[in-house]
Amino acid sequence: MNKTDRMQIPMSAPDIGEREREIINSVMQTPSLSFGPHLMAFEEAVAGASGCAYGCGVSSGTAGLHLGMIAAGAGQNDLVITTPFSFIASANCILYEKAVPLFVDVDENTGNIDPEQIAAALYAWQHGKPDFLPPSMRNGNRKDSKIKAVLPVHAFGQPADMDPIVKLADKYNLSVIEDACEALGAEYKGRKAGSLGDIAVFAFYPNKQITTGEGGMIVTDKRDWHLLFRSLRNQGRDEFNEWLSHNRLGYNYRMDELSAALGEVQIQRLDEILAKRRQVADWYSQRLQQIDKIKIPFIHNHTTRMSWFVYVIRILPPFSRDKVMQKLKQADIPSRPYFTPIHLQPYYRDQFGYKEGDFPVTEKLGEQSLALPFSSVMSEEEVAYVCDHLERIISAEYPARLHAVGRHVTAK
Ligand SMILES: *Cc1c(COP(=O)(O)O)cnc(C)c1O
Repeated sequence: MNKTDRMQIPMSAPDIGEREREIINSVMQTPSLSFGPHLMAFEEAVAGASGCAYGCGVSSGTAGLHLGMIAAGAGQNDLVITTPFSFIASANCILYEKAVPLFVDVDENTGNIDPEQIAAALYAWQHGKPDFLPPSMRNGNRKDSKIKAVLPVHAFGQPADMDPIVKLADKYNLSVIEDACEALGAEYKGRKAGSLGDIAVFAFYPNKQITTGEGGMIVTDKRDWHLLFRSLRNQGRDEFNEWLSHNRLGYNYRMDELSAALGEVQIQRLDEILAKRRQVADWYSQRLQQIDKIKIPFIHNHTTRMSWFVYVIRILPPFSRDKVMQKLKQADIPSRPYFTPIHLQPYYRDQFGYKEGDFPVTEKLGEQSLALPFSSVMSEEEVAYVCDHLERIISAEYPARLHAVGRHVTAK
């Protein structure tokens, strides 16, 4: 193929239409560029779409998770159980409050936090065993430490196994903060992601299912927490008190009106966008399930609705994910390792003494996982183009193994 025939396929792309441009224009003709009617409408729509009573728009998903940690009361000496197989924000938000992530490993099929590992960590904690603590803390004094919350992540748009997680949280009196930043519209056993814990956070960065540029939303049924979030995002002002009376340490985590207006139109299109993303995922799966050494995404049967965020395959050994990524790059096709384990990030190694081998399942997924170009505006030709290249790369390495019988996994 000659160089001019090459397609330029982005890693991800927002799905922005005429109505989005119109609404932004209309906001610019008003004086309300922050705290206006579009924020209220968008908050109501996201709360509704996730089966919650309240929505609080914030400046990013990370900001929302940070406020979630404050509501859960996670502070110095406290611990929050979470997964190392995630985007770094889900652990950083714990550190912002000087609490510590207590990582547990994930389920190999879904990449989601493993409830049995949570149970094991809680059992160890209760019996004074340091096994699940970060290496640098295993010899410390834990007299004043408490586990305050569990923070599951719905990885790649597939809900974590929430029933056993919520049961454990009830038993140990922990708050449940859902990191639903990748899972707007997903459903677990017929229930909406976002309504499964005490609070949930969504994110609207341009690679997410719907976008506001930058932005996030905290949803909850707890009115007192909702009011706390509204105060914390706005410099600690209580809404109905006098202007400029700051009752607590707050932040500027507000969502502006232009972002909210964009979100208001985008969320009206959620079903349409999720259907398009599912179609793209189906195109990929149909092609790639026939290739030995490539494992297509696994959808658990408790996932009654998948909200496709990224399309992540696994490149099975002895073939190397990095090599496939590099060869795709030579053909101008972007792809990414997804996720790079959080505990192996330099900052976490330095702070907590983590090393290779600490979370074997997470590390295995971290070595094998490859996110392919994915968006709702991707065409069938573009998917075929990526798959052709992948097939060629794999068959160059394993001529005899191509078209071995693939595992059949239905994409919901
Ligand atoms: C996108 C994302 C976030 C938050 O992202 P922001 O860029 O701060 O909006 C948090 N957790 C996960 C798992 C994410 O994918």
